[in-house]
Amino acid sequence: LPIAATLADLLPLLARHHPDRTALVMEDRSLTYAELDQAAGRLAGALAARGVMPGDRITLHGPNSWQWVVAYYAVLRSGAILNPLNLMLTPPEVAHAVRDCGAGIVITTAASVPGLSGLREAGVRLIAWGGEAREPGEEHEAEALEPLTAAGAMLEPHACDPGAPAMICYTSGTTGLPKGAVLTHRGILHNAAAIATMFVMDRNDVMVSAMPLPHVGGHVMMNAAFQRGMRLAQFGRFDPVRVQDAVARLGGTIFFGAPAMFLMVTAAPGFAAEAWRSLRVAAIGGAGMPPEQMRAVERALGHRLLELWGMTELSGVGAAFGPLTPNKHGSIGVAVPFVQLRIGALDDDAVTVPPDEPGELLARGPSVMQGYWNNAAATAETLTGDGWLRTGDIARMDADGCIFVVDRRKDMILSSGYNVYPAELERVLCEHPAVATAAVGRQPDPVKGEIAKAYVVLKREGEATIEELEAFCRHSLAAYKVPRAFQFVSDLPRTPSGKVLRRELCKLDGGDPARSAAP
Ligand code: ATP
Ligand code: MG
Repeated sequence: LPIAATLADLLPLLARHHPDRTALVMEDRSLTYAELDQAAGRLAGALAARGVMPGDRITLHGPNSWQWVVAYYAVLRSGAILNPLNLMLTPPEVAHAVRDCGAGIVITTAASVPGLSGLREAGVRLIAWGGEAREPGEEHEAEALEPLTAAGAMLEPHACDPGAPAMICYTSGTTGLPKGAVLTHRGILHNAAAIATMFVMDRNDVMVSAMPLPHVGGHVMMNAAFQRGMRLAQFGRFDPVRVQDAVARLGGTIFFGAPAMFLMVTAAPGFAAEAWRSLRVAAIGGAGMPPEQMRAVERALGHRLLELWGMTELSGVGAAFGPLTPNKHGSIGVAVPFVQLRIGALDDDAVTVPPDEPGELLARGPSVMQGYWNNAAATAETLTGDGWLRTGDIARMDADGCIFVVDRRKDMILSSGYNVYPAELERVLCEHPAVATAAVGRQPDPVKGEIAKAYVVLKREGEATIEELEAFCRHSLAAYKVPRAFQFVSDLPRTPSGKVLRRELCKLDGGDPARSAAP
């Protein structure tokens, strides 16, 4: 199959080659490549009829749905720059992104948009495309939306440079305010091709995914599947029973999920490894998973988990394992096609450190973002003069090119001159049989500068004491790494995609029972 040069050309090309193959299966609807292309072309026509011009920014907001997929390709086909937003964002977060990227239109595939009245006052046009049933109480909001239909005339794809911006995708906001990464057509399509190559995907594969489509990890997988003329079964809300059912029913060969999804799948009441027999690739990514949890999931599922690592600024995936690469436990993979990875010294990242030494992970290649929208200072901090992206992740690379993520650079704790990585402490704590999950944050300390504080969720209240946890840490961690303070909590603050917000842990301070460990 030929590969399209821009995202605007992707569906027309596939519709020409395999019009009648099923492209997308959602719970309520399935569409062939010809149907998907038609719907996107007509919706693009309707947008053009409303005066949308190439280079305009359009925000797309709503749950995973076939309408969302059609709108994604319609906006790109019109030449506008797409800004996909996560459904879970709060009204101020939505307002920040819409204002920051200067979108004049918000298309929603849901019944309402959070903070709708504020957006309207700011002169943003709000249009509804194929919204779901309204929730009671949302009626007046929903009525305020301008309806859009796909009844426009079929629009020819806007002919643009493959190196032109296609999207502004906001980062997850784990370490600060989300930043808008400007991604190109070439970047996203190269990354999709890299994934397809890594997973040896072809048109007989069936991908099952429940990742949120607005996140780059969701839509780059969609593009990988469509690029190869595959069938994509995409879920809206993640439901382990229905996902298992889809894999069994459709003969799913590739499943891509976040760590929490794999845990939910194997813990679900009707879980049956038998249902997952057709799988060829079980890919896990977006965040790390403790190794012993990973092994337990692998034993239950009967498949090796292929870890992958990626970030918004890289248009998707930077490192992964595939069915044909050797897989090392604890590693996030090797560089995917078109991506160069190296480890830069923490004090001077122009210098590459020797194998097995930690430093900042740097990435280069066509899928690196152009920069952050409207934020020259953050762009200059993140991109080096010769095209390397500073990922903000500390990692080591072994002699085989396998990458091991240590932690995020911003979360590193400097305690009495030693670097302490919260992820390492969290891994140890999670090995304790009474611990459900744990996160480690930093606290200022008059003597040591900073200290590590552990926030622990127990499987059952009272099942472990702070003294026991501290002794457990002392057993496997060097003394300077052992958390100096512990607190039991009932839950951890997380981003909409489920990542722990370490910078918000201090908001839990003061809750009982807490105790500072001996210095
Ligand atoms: P922000 O940049 O706004 O703070 P974020 O970095 O979480 O948020 P994303 O671009 O969604 O936003 O996530 C990329 C980050 O996710 C990576 O830099 C890395 O820290 C983490 N990550 C992704 N995959 C993995 C993985 N397999 N193992 C460990 N960490 C991962
Ligand atoms: Mg980031």
